[in-house]
Amino acid sequence: MSDDDLRPPPIGAPNWRTDVDAPREQDIVSCVSCGLCLPHCPTFRLTGRESASPRGRIAAMRAVQEGQATIDATFTTMMDECLACRACETACPSGVPFGRMIEAARAQIEPTRPITTRGLRALGLRHVLRRPWMMFTAGYALALAQAIRLDRLAPQRLRATSPQVSLWSLIRRIPRQLGHGPSAEILCGCVMDVAFRDVQRDTMRAVAGAGYTAHRTTSGGCCGALAMHYGQPETARALARARIAEFADAEVVVANSAGCSNHMKTWGHLLEDDPEWGPRAARVAERVRDLLEIDIPVVEQPRGQVACHDACHHINGQSLGDDLRRIVRSAGGIPVEIPGGGRCCGAAGLYSVLEPELSAQLRRQKAEAIIATGAATVAVANPGCAIQIAAGLQELQSSVQVIHPAQMTSHTER
Ligand code: SF4
Ligand code: SF4
Repeated sequence: MSDDDLRPPPIGAPNWRTDVDAPREQDIVSCVSCGLCLPHCPTFRLTGRESASPRGRIAAMRAVQEGQATIDATFTTMMDECLACRACETACPSGVPFGRMIEAARAQIEPTRPITTRGLRALGLRHVLRRPWMMFTAGYALALAQAIRLDRLAPQRLRATSPQVSLWSLIRRIPRQLGHGPSAEILCGCVMDVAFRDVQRDTMRAVAGAGYTAHRTTSGGCCGALAMHYGQPETARALARARIAEFADAEVVVANSAGCSNHMKTWGHLLEDDPEWGPRAARVAERVRDLLEIDIPVVEQPRGQVACHDACHHINGQSLGDDLRRIVRSAGGIPVEIPGGGRCCGAAGLYSVLEPELSAQLRRQKAEAIIATGAATVAVANPGCAIQIAAGLQELQSSVQVIHPAQMTSHTER
């Protein structure tokens, strides 16, 4: 064997597009292929395929980085099947930042998708989510369809992933401002403001009860998390700039959705190459708090056992698992662990629509695990998880109630 045989094959130029975000070389090479993340990856556990594991996905990125592969159908499937739950990131001893790598890989894939897919995604992520009036129009249409049971005509896959929206909750007003104290801007967001208005109302009262002047900028919209998740970083940046301008004067910015708070805390990184907006983004991002981090007032009353569901973007993105249990305990509940609790429920943004089979398996596993706890209530602090878990429980004809921690505050007892 000669020295030439022992040398690694020559590394070519990266096959990434240069006009959109790409996974960074230093992130890719930080993976040492140890495989310690594999047992923590929901898609690897379901399929047993290396191509559905974090190590396999990083190897695919490495192949493109080294010019040995291109962004083809196989690469696309591998990245699309990922939940972006970041369980691998928490498990990884080498600190591989998988979350930002998968987002950049998807940004690379986006221009290669069929024009109809790109058009639909752009319509939803770039136009509908950023315009509250469009979200409300969709909300009223859904509420009406559900009220007259027209939604039964929709495919089961869509029904299982649609929130229950009531006309009454859409019509009821939420105060623009409440309480006294330092200013707290509450993210109206996209889905929360339409499909979880009761939670939004309770959040205003909870933050005001915690000693802030809670304020809502109702002209605002999405924080950009979904756009970032689905390969549209420029849309995510545009949405971040709009929200940052609205929140510039707030002492704290509060989001009651795990995916939103987690994403908003990355705004500084997202806009770091923008000399005008970068410093402002970093300043606002530092003031972002998930509602679980606020000392909200709760009333202590017997609530029995409350199963605690950890949203991926709480435990993997923000290490907020203890906070959910603290709130449940203060409110008189007995926190109960869900078997396999750290595992994704399969909601993961639009995953239940885009990868229905894998999502349905994860939904069922999560619902079964919640029922097995014997708790009558499950606390969930993320809209996607709440919709997914409610659907899973309904499929199993369970009476377990899904509740957001904001609904446990003293101001919201009904
Ligand atoms: S991502 Fe981390 S845990 Fe997983 S194979 Fe790479 S180095 Fe190991
Ligand atoms: S983000 Fe989640 S689904 Fe994707 S590779 Fe990591 S653990 Fe697996």
